[in-house]
Amino acid sequence: MQTTYATQAAPGAVNEDYVAAGPDWAIVLDGATASAGVDSGCVHDVAWLVHQLAAALSAHLAADATGSLADVLAESIKQVCAAHAGTCDLANPDSPSSTVAMARWREGRLECLALADSPIAVRCRDGSISVLEDDRILGLPGGPPYTFELVRAHRNRPGGFWVASTSQAAAYEAVTATFPESEVETVAMLTDGVTRLIDYYGHHWPGLLDCLRTGGPEHTIGLVREAERTRPYAHGKPHDDATALVMTRAPVRGSAAG
Ligand SMILES: [Zn+2]
Repeated sequence: MQTTYATQAAPGAVNEDYVAAGPDWAIVLDGATASAGVDSGCVHDVAWLVHQLAAALSAHLAADATGSLADVLAESIKQVCAAHAGTCDLANPDSPSSTVAMARWREGRLECLALADSPIAVRCRDGSISVLEDDRILGLPGGPPYTFELVRAHRNRPGGFWVASTSQAAAYEAVTATFPESEVETVAMLTDGVTRLIDYYGHHWPGLLDCLRTGGPEHTIGLVREAERTRPYAHGKPHDDATALVMTRAPVRGSAAG
């Protein structure tokens, strides 16, 4: 198996995405950009939260944590809380937050977890594609676009949507799936700065997975930037931080399994 990734800040911005991988695990995070003028109760910025969370997750995964991916995420959120409990108001509903996508190969299976809008797409050897995505943010009362107050009132609340911030409970609200390792061909983990190729620009999962597999993550992010330049999207941020990770397994040829 080969794992490759690329991450690129929106032009002129600080990258609030993060990506890390080991031989048998990978994580992709996308920090939620703070709204201007909002008191988060936290002396740190979003990038700090994302880096702390990535460090905690990576440490557990590299140490072969025995718990579920949700257990690993809950423990990591707990550690990040401890890292700023002394300086920050962790009860503030606008405390910095992040999406989380996690994947781990273990005991003959691929385990996947997605919290908030950083999806994982898995293509199996039979050509079928499963997209693990947590789109609860799209289902808030009234539908988007939302007011700031409405989003705040539904963040990390039952019936609302969940993100990695100060609540360990969010870990157990994530969407999870497992796949037999032998059936998996390609795994893509993406932030919404890349899935805008699908959301805004008419791409589809089969082509996007082919692009990641053959062109690679950096090339794929280049397609995002080109689309943003040539066909500016009217209803969203002109650019976003963009991160793509792809894990590929060699194609099966004859009886020789890759
Ligand atoms: Zn803080």
